[in-house]
Amino acid sequence: METNEQMKRMLREAVREEVERFFEAVEGLAEGKLEQLEEQVVKTSQQMGRSLLEGVLDSRLRTPRPAARREGSCGHCQRLVGERPKELLTLVGKVRFVRPYYQCLEVSEQDRICTHGEAPDDILWGVHERRTTPGVQREISYLCGRLTFEEAADTFCRQVPLGMSGRQALSLMRPLGAALTAQQDHQVKVLQAQAKQAQSQPCAQPAAKEIERLSIELDGVLARMRRGSVPLEQEEVQRKGDVYREIKAGAVFRAERGPRRSELAPGVYVDTPAADSMRYVARRTAKGDFAWLLYQLAVEGGLEQAQQVVVLGDGAPWIWNLVAEHFPGAVQIVDLSHAKEHVWDVAHAVFGRGTKAGTAWATHACSLLEQGQSAALVSAISALPPIAPEPGQARSIPERAVDYFTTNAARMCYPLFRAQGMHLGSGIAEAACKTIVSTRAKRSGMRWTPEGLDALLPVRTAVLNGAYDSVWKEEYAA
Ligand SMILES: [Zn+2]
Repeated sequence: METNEQMKRMLREAVREEVERFFEAVEGLAEGKLEQLEEQVVKTSQQMGRSLLEGVLDSRLRTPRPAARREGSCGHCQRLVGERPKELLTLVGKVRFVRPYYQCLEVSEQDRICTHGEAPDDILWGVHERRTTPGVQREISYLCGRLTFEEAADTFCRQVPLGMSGRQALSLMRPLGAALTAQQDHQVKVLQAQAKQAQSQPCAQPAAKEIERLSIELDGVLARMRRGSVPLEQEEVQRKGDVYREIKAGAVFRAERGPRRSELAPGVYVDTPAADSMRYVARRTAKGDFAWLLYQLAVEGGLEQAQQVVVLGDGAPWIWNLVAEHFPGAVQIVDLSHAKEHVWDVAHAVFGRGTKAGTAWATHACSLLEQGQSAALVSAISALPPIAPEPGQARSIPERAVDYFTTNAARMCYPLFRAQGMHLGSGIAEAACKTIVSTRAKRSGMRWTPEGLDALLPVRTAVLNGAYDSVWKEEYAA
C-alpha cells in the first residue's frame, strides 16, 4: 500500500489533534473516574481510526494524481469528472472520503451517450455499490448467527458508533449465507460423485475404529413464514393465519462416558458429547439435500472410524428413511421425550387436559414406555374407550398412537439402550435451531422468507461449529 510523505504528515497531524482533544476532554475529570476515562479513550481511538481510514482512502492525499482518461469496465473511454465523496460504515464508525469518479465519453451503438459512471477506487477496495466494510459485514453476520437480527444490530451498535436496524443486519448477512449455501451444495455434489465412484470400485482399506460411539441426532423445527413467500398448500389457502415450514436439523458428536449416573440403570454412566466434538447442520426441508449434508458432517466427525453409530430422532418417517439409506447398521432410538409426548397426547384426547384420570393413565403408560414394554403400552392404549378422529383425520389419536408405538417398537428398547449408557434424547439438534429460528420469530412477530432462512442457517451452524472465522476467510473473503 502506498503511503507518501504528504499523507504521512497529514495523518500524524490528525492523530496529534485527537490526542490534544483527548487531553482537553479529560482535564476536568476527577482522579479515579476510570469508567469515564476509559470511555474517552475508546472515543479517541475510534476518532483516530476514522481519521486514519479517511486519510488513506482519500484520493487527494495520494500520488500520482488520477489520470484524466481511463478505460471503463464497459469498455468505453471514460473521463475524470471530479473527486466525489463516499460514505462507508466501518468498525470505527462512519467515514467519509473522496475518490476520483469517471464517466463514459463515447456514444454507444444505439447512438446514445453511455451514461455509465464508476469509481475505480471502490472496485479496488471491494466497496463498489456497498456502504459497509467487510469488517462490519463479518462482525454483524457473526452476531446474526447468535442472536435475533434486532439483537445483533443492537449489540453491534453498543461497540461501534453506528446506527443499524435488524433489517440492515439481515441484508448484510445474506450474501455470506448465500456463499456458504453454495459451498455446501458444491460439497454435496463432490460427495455424491465420490459415493458413485466407490460403488464401482473395490473396497479400500477399512479405517481403524478409534471412535467408540458416534451419536447423531435429528429433528424437524417449524419456522413461521411470511404468507406469500412460499407456495401455499390447498388447505393453507382456505385457512387464514400463519404458515409454517419445516427445517431439518442434525447434530453429530462423539459420545463419551459422562459423569452422570443413570437413574434407571444402576451403575451405568450416561454418555456425554466429547469436548469440542459437537457439529451441527440445518437446512430448510424444501431446499433439499439435508441427508447428504448430514452424512458429510458424520464423515467429518469420524463415521468411518466409529465402532458404533447411534441415531436419535422422533418417530418421523423421513428420519428413519434417511438412516436406512445413509447410516445402515446404526442403532436407532426414538427420542424418549418425543415418545412420551405421544403418550400424553392420547391421555389428553381421551380423558381431557389436566384431568386426574388422564394424568394417572399417562404416568403409568410412560413407565411402561421407559421399561421398554411397547406391547403392554399398545394394549393399554387399545383398551381405552374409543374416541372419534379429529376433523380431517381418518384415524383417531389413540389409533395413530398404536401405529406409532407398533412401528417404532424396536427403537424404544430403552432398558437395553440405557444399559449401554446411550443418550435417550436430549433435544440437541432441535435446540440448535429452535432459539434462533422459531423462538425469535414468535418473540418479535417476525416471519421468515425462504431466502432469509436459507441464508441464516449455514451462518448459524458455522458459528455453533466454531468454524465461522475459517469459513469467512476461505469461502467468503477470498
Ligand atoms: Zn460506457
